[in-house]
Amino acid sequence: MFDKYSRNINYLRLSITDRCNLRCKYCMPDGCGMVGHEDILSYEEFLRLVRLFTQAGVEHVRVTGGEPLVRKGAAEFVRALKAVPGVKKVSLTTNGTLLGKYGEALAAAGLDSVNISLDTTDPALAREITGSDGVVDAVRESLALMRSLGVPVKLNAVLLAETAGTVPSLARFAEEGVPVRFIELMPMGVGKYGRGYDPDLALEDLRRIWPDLHPVDAHIGSGPAKYYASEALAAPIGFIDAVSHRFCASCNRVRLTSRGFLKPCLCFDEGADLRALLRSGAGDGDTLDAIKLTVFNKPRQHCFDTPQNMTESRLMSQIGG
Ligand code: SAM
Ligand code: SF4
Repeated sequence: MFDKYSRNINYLRLSITDRCNLRCKYCMPDGCGMVGHEDILSYEEFLRLVRLFTQAGVEHVRVTGGEPLVRKGAAEFVRALKAVPGVKKVSLTTNGTLLGKYGEALAAAGLDSVNISLDTTDPALAREITGSDGVVDAVRESLALMRSLGVPVKLNAVLLAETAGTVPSLARFAEEGVPVRFIELMPMGVGKYGRGYDPDLALEDLRRIWPDLHPVDAHIGSGPAKYYASEALAAPIGFIDAVSHRFCASCNRVRLTSRGFLKPCLCFDEGADLRALLRSGAGDGDTLDAIKLTVFNKPRQHCFDTPQNMTESRLMSQIGG
């Protein structure tokens, strides 16, 4: 499905819940209001929409949240997504803390890959950021489990001022063959009050350890990461620096929130209320038309450089990253 700037939109991110078992301070503040179960799309509603999205050209579906694994039946949902004609790939973004419980079921359901988020290897800092103990150990165990189950894993870390010192130790996961991607802090929701760490400085830090780090044309996943490789690393290191290096011209994605709102761009609250449409009894034809129109009108680019133009006020935990 092409938008009006001729971008091929084939990647759909589904946020299946806005709840989370962690409270990362740049994402989901304590005490933020939760959505009631009846406001969240049922799995049947998600599947009906995914069938329509595939008719419009979507091939890759990523399940995210909130923390997707706090929603009951997430592994069965992955299995159902895999069975939708036209879906070529189903992946998951998770904080990793519940993979010990659900990893095997997810692998058995046919999950194609998993991105695990971990912002620091320092347990005390991780506690400060997420509000929970034991996150670093849980992620290490989850990572090993998913690899042993044959599910490709990537590690995602948001670059924060307070975790800058642990960038090198996070990058060392790449020595073990796990691609590591550093994500620039985006001024979304409470993220706008946080202090990020400059991705260019992070790359300089890494070049002091691996001087031969050089750009490579790696095609890992469906994202916009720029990758760097070194002889000493078994996997590349990527940077997703949406704010300082705009890559909107090659954007291939749209997002569906847990309330069924179709978001064509992170920065803006324009989109389509597909939940209202479905629940008012709209047929597949009308719903597909609404999807295509919203995608066609996807904004040309984000406006992180002119925050006064941002109209989106949802938290990242409500959008899914
Ligand atoms: N709970 C899951 C997790 O943490 O991976 C999935 C949802 S979370 C919203 C998805 C991703 O968005 C995580 O990697 C998280 O670090 C990232 N994220 C959240 N807020 C962000 C922000 N303001 N800027 C950049 N990334 C952010
Ligand atoms: Fe939860 Fe993920 Fe947001 Fe952290 S980043 S609060 S784990 S949704």
